[in-house]
Amino acid sequence: MPRCQRLSLLAVCLLLFRPVQATAQTAGPTYTVQEGDTLFGIALTFGSTVSELAAANGIEDPSAIFPGQQLVIPGLEGIQGSLQFEPLTFGETLASEALRHGLALGELARLNRVLNPLSLIVGQPMVYVDQQSPSLALPTSERKAVEAGQSLLEVAVALNIDVWSLQAHNRLEARRWSVQGELLHAPGGDQPTTGLPPGLISLEVGPLPAVQGRVVDLKLIAPQGSIPTGQLGPWNLRFVEETPTEWIALQGIHALQNPGVLDLQVGLASDGTFSQSIEVEEGDYGREALQVPAETLDPANTGPEDELIAGVVAEVTPEKLWQGVFSFPTSYFEAFPSVFGTRRSYNGSEFTYYHNGLDLYGSSTTPVLAPAAGRVAFTGFLTVRGNTTYIDHGWGVFSGFLHQSEILVKAGDLVEQGQIVGYVGGTGRVTGPHLHWEVWVGGVPVDPLPWTRSAFP
Ligand SMILES: [Zn+2]
Repeated sequence: MPRCQRLSLLAVCLLLFRPVQATAQTAGPTYTVQEGDTLFGIALTFGSTVSELAAANGIEDPSAIFPGQQLVIPGLEGIQGSLQFEPLTFGETLASEALRHGLALGELARLNRVLNPLSLIVGQPMVYVDQQSPSLALPTSERKAVEAGQSLLEVAVALNIDVWSLQAHNRLEARRWSVQGELLHAPGGDQPTTGLPPGLISLEVGPLPAVQGRVVDLKLIAPQGSIPTGQLGPWNLRFVEETPTEWIALQGIHALQNPGVLDLQVGLASDGTFSQSIEVEEGDYGREALQVPAETLDPANTGPEDELIAGVVAEVTPEKLWQGVFSFPTSYFEAFPSVFGTRRSYNGSEFTYYHNGLDLYGSSTTPVLAPAAGRVAFTGFLTVRGNTTYIDHGWGVFSGFLHQSEILVKAGDLVEQGQIVGYVGGTGRVTGPHLHWEVWVGGVPVDPLPWTRSAFP
């Protein structure tokens, strides 16, 4: 009997101690402050607020955090460990990220406060917790999308593994049901744990966020003989073959595209598509108000011309004809009468128009030089554009020269970078001589200036 009392006393002691330990354990995961971090930025990344973070960590002055400081992140009680984050790349899903970091799907969703797994945006910070046992993140050998009516057992058989390994590797816990289209991975091997369709080896998108009037390039790797397809917002992506297993697509983002997110869909004709959002930022464009003759704006004049040119620049020549950085098409490039993207009001209208090229100073003795090698796609006189030349540089990239006094080339001619293709002028609907230079990519006018500063793609 005395022995029994001792035992029960011990039990009471344990009970008294446990809540104290539990409080420390449920405080939540921690984040180590990095150089340049602000409390606001940390709050944004981890879905908290500055006041919640300050309260949880006893911080009185939110600006007084320092690198190396450990902060408890509130709202994630029950999760332990050190929080890390990295930008989400195209093709990663909540499921593939859970696999990669060895976390339960629900835990990762909670860490990222994800309510809708389909609403992830490329480049958004994905938060994960550094596991004490990283071996939980198993390498994957093969992936397979669940077909209509297919059971988990059937998927396991197709992947040549047992259903328990399939459940364990994909962190399905005891789940027995399958979801059509869900991508399941088989353990063992060195394949990336991506959410891309099985045949698609990798896809890189950049630079992100996309910017109005700039270019996005996509590099895709897939087995030889694949037919890549894609859509970015309203634009059909046109992939060209760089090597037998590598494709590339260049797409301009329209200068008036609404900032926010754009849906990007990429896949293989044989293999289904993968869809995720990318972010589009505003380009820093100014405004100008102009007075022009009314007929310049008359759709009866501009419509047919615009359609003609849209047809010219819609072509995608599979060979890349240019090399490196573009040069300026005239020798006057220290200052410009008007730059690309400027929002325009004509004759007192709203600022719904924009300037789709870069204007350069010049007179009828100023030669127009090809900014890069290519093949002349169009020459001719147009009512609004005047004497016009478009050069096809390949891969869906074109440059155009408007209002020339003279054209020295004809359609089909191959031109070298720096070759004289015409002379600056004041033809068409203009107030005075200048060269209007356009660069089109994937059927969309983009800012020519970045092309003179760095090599694309
Ligand atoms: Zn212009």
